[in-house]
Amino acid sequence: MAYSYDDQNIFARILRGEIPNQTVLESEHALAFRDIHPQAPEHVLVIPKGPYVTFDHFALEASAEEIVDFHRLAGQVCALMGVQPGAGGLGYRTISNAGEHSAQEVPHYHVHILGGRPLGPLLS
Ligand code: 5GP
Repeated sequence: MAYSYDDQNIFARILRGEIPNQTVLESEHALAFRDIHPQAPEHVLVIPKGPYVTFDHFALEASAEEIVDFHRLAGQVCALMGVQPGAGGLGYRTISNAGEHSAQEVPHYHVHILGGRPLGPLLS
């Protein structure tokens, strides 16, 4: 399948430094920054630096190095938030919207990490 990436999307512009962001953590292949409209006390977006549109695009076409680096950074964000249930935290949620049916707003792959309050059932 051919994926089409729009390099004018907001997150591409953040990666190029054209739009400011509140960076939480950065690695060679990924960036974590605060969501501009937080839905929870902690709401961080983790994005790969490469031009991927959705989870499936990233999972199918990114290198193993990019995939590991991205997930390590996301894990470090959870640790920084202090929300890891196995380490005394009260938990968190990861979400990734893809395409029209999930109302994906920004066409650059990202994972939301939400925490700091009870989040309720996912499909409520
Ligand atoms: P989506 O619906 O694509 O999964 O979510 C996109 C997210 O990006 C939304 O939660 C929205 O608040 C966030 N967002 C949109 N524009 C900006 C921006 O310019 N800066 C930051 N930090 N977040 C943004």
